[in-house]
Amino acid sequence: MNKNSRRREALLYHAKPTPGKIQVVPTKKYATQRDLSLAYSPGVAEPCLEIAKDVNNVYKYTAKGNLVAVITNGTAVLGLGDIGPEASKPVMEGKALLFKIFADIDVFDIEIGTKDIDAFIETVKNIAPTFGGINLEDIKAPESFEIERRLVAELNIPVMHDDQHGTAIISSAALLNALELAEKKTANVKIVISGAGSAALACANLYVLLGVKPEHIIMFDKDGVLCAERTDLSELQKKYTHGKLGTTLQEALAGADVFLGLSVGNILTPEMLLAMAKNPVVFAMANPVPEIDYEVAIATRKDIIMATGRSDHPNQVNNVLGFPYIFRGALDVRATKINEEMKMAAVHALAELAKEPVPEQVNIAYGETKLNFGRDYIIPKPFDPRLIAVVAPAVAKAAMSSGVALNPITDWEKYEEELLE
Ligand code: NAP
Ligand code: MG
Repeated sequence: MNKNSRRREALLYHAKPTPGKIQVVPTKKYATQRDLSLAYSPGVAEPCLEIAKDVNNVYKYTAKGNLVAVITNGTAVLGLGDIGPEASKPVMEGKALLFKIFADIDVFDIEIGTKDIDAFIETVKNIAPTFGGINLEDIKAPESFEIERRLVAELNIPVMHDDQHGTAIISSAALLNALELAEKKTANVKIVISGAGSAALACANLYVLLGVKPEHIIMFDKDGVLCAERTDLSELQKKYTHGKLGTTLQEALAGADVFLGLSVGNILTPEMLLAMAKNPVVFAMANPVPEIDYEVAIATRKDIIMATGRSDHPNQVNNVLGFPYIFRGALDVRATKINEEMKMAAVHALAELAKEPVPEQVNIAYGETKLNFGRDYIIPKPFDPRLIAVVAPAVAKAAMSSGVALNPITDWEKYEEELLE
């Protein structure tokens, strides 16, 4: 399909038959006068009074517990940049669609018309009573860091900025499996990261929790290597200034075990790839053009273990493997936050699932004959029906054991059955 017809198809998909991608559907009967008198006045006053007496009853009598807000201000939308709140709405509706089809979570997409950090936070806090959880989306760094930090601290429902943590979680699962295949240990590997933005920093932080030594991480941004001499770095970036002033990407990659790209397309050359250690792990995740072309990379190194952000190559690091199930697990135990333990639980659940035999329906969905754990299959596929029953319970259990679950689950077998319904 050429670019023009793809464009037409996408616009038609969004415009017809109804503009947009989501709608609100009643879950109760509404056929008779009696139904309406229950749904609205006077019957509706009864749950109102119960909730006024005890605010926890809001989870019993309203949709709050299964309702997530996908919230943005449109400042860092996909790779399109600061295109504004209205222009971001198709992305937020798309996210709503994914939450619904993969985890049966309802979403209101909220596009807020301010770039001011305080005003943004105030708005989100003021509308939080409506929601069971908040997925922050496509907000520019460094504002996104403070916005997330303050909302996590000040709200008692789960808040997660998916562009940071989703990517970190999925790529961590891929990294664990890639290193297992490469027969390397997290504590020993040398990692070069191109990019020092939202996604790159979140990944580095989670890799460190997995056992990677911070001093084994060399990070680059547009201005070159991050090093102690630089005076333009944020507090978060200062954790990764182990590079030597003036080191080039080519030099840093000599003998490196892992390349993580969360920057821009086509900055990793075959020459650089050839300088890397045996069984190099290359996650080239700039979208839509990766740091090195997939075909070029696999032609250059036969021993490469490669992932990208794209669906047309093996090993797509796709956030949809995470956020639906992370929020599912968090909502189901009424977690007050999504903490590091819960993220880690998602990482290990995803990594382990990739080692299980793949159901035939997944092979069929992807037109494959025999997906199995190996260089071309280090993370599960998005249409794997087992994901929800594996990741959500792992996250829920971690919420309980880390003490943030207000509504613990006791019957896990029943819970997993319900998830698969
Ligand atoms: P971001 O916050 O804007 O960060 C981009 C970073 O890349 C900045 O640190 C920037 O440096 C750096 N950069 C730009 N040009 C560079 C160059 N030539 N060499 C080295 N570094 C360079 O964006 P983000 O949200 O982290 O996303 C970064 C990229 O990753 C995007 O392409 C995005 O689509 C992709 N991504 C993919 C996935 C996925 O596949 N699952 C998930 C998240 C993000 P300065 O700070 O100096 O400008
Ligand atoms: Mg996003």
